[in-house]
Amino acid sequence: MSYFKKLWSELLNLVFPPLQCCPFCGIASENGEICSFCRQEIVDFQQQPHCNRCGRRRTSKKLSFSSGKVLNTLDKLFSCADCLNQEKTFKMARAIGTYEGGLKEAIHKFKFKRQRYLAQLLGPLLVNVFWTCPAYQKVQVVVPVPLTLRRLRERGFNQAELLAREVARALNLPLFLTLVKARETTPQTGLKREQRMDNLKGAFKVERPFLVANKTVLLIDDVFTTGATIEECSRTLTSAGAKEVYVLTVATGNSYG
Ligand SMILES: [Zn+2]
Ligand SMILES: [Zn+2]
Repeated sequence: MSYFKKLWSELLNLVFPPLQCCPFCGIASENGEICSFCRQEIVDFQQQPHCNRCGRRRTSKKLSFSSGKVLNTLDKLFSCADCLNQEKTFKMARAIGTYEGGLKEAIHKFKFKRQRYLAQLLGPLLVNVFWTCPAYQKVQVVVPVPLTLRRLRERGFNQAELLAREVARALNLPLFLTLVKARETTPQTGLKREQRMDNLKGAFKVERPFLVANKTVLLIDDVFTTGATIEECSRTLTSAGAKEVYVLTVATGNSYG
């Protein structure tokens, strides 16, 4: 939401105190539903050009070409520089919107202020994205990105698991908590690409590989930023025998070109 729109809404709130607020951005909204600003942010994102592979918004209109790899025409035309130059094991990643505005506020409330009910609002929005992608229709099982046991005890819940439960229930698919995080990793922020991948190497494992063997997996997380965590989870699932991995997250970052 733009600064002025937010300021105007705040002023209106002062004159006419709201009875109910948007669960994402907190401005007054009818019946406490997601407000029109937050909905519009999602619509705008869905209409912008995306990387065909990672689903991040493309900030550059330049075409990206990889260094000597054989790629199909679609990938050449619609992939971001990051996906062209770095092999990905997941087939596609898609998100509800970018990690900014109302969606960012929603994720913060959900994750850090423990407003768990937000999973019930974000889940259907994830399902909407699922239905707009024909390739996703072949997924057979839903798997959330895990937390370490220590982090799980600190937070009290795994946000990705709550989202995955909503999605699995709506799609009538089995939910398997078989991907686990075996060790704590240092925060990825500020690390270079190689350092990020090293930091995550071996951090995840599949406890019961037969649950994902030869299956098309839908991997769920809250945010796709650099994609390093998602890629490591996808690689781990693929090594454990998963046929293909598709990814759904609430929010995503911008692509690198
Ligand atoms: Zn809102
Ligand atoms: Zn990409």
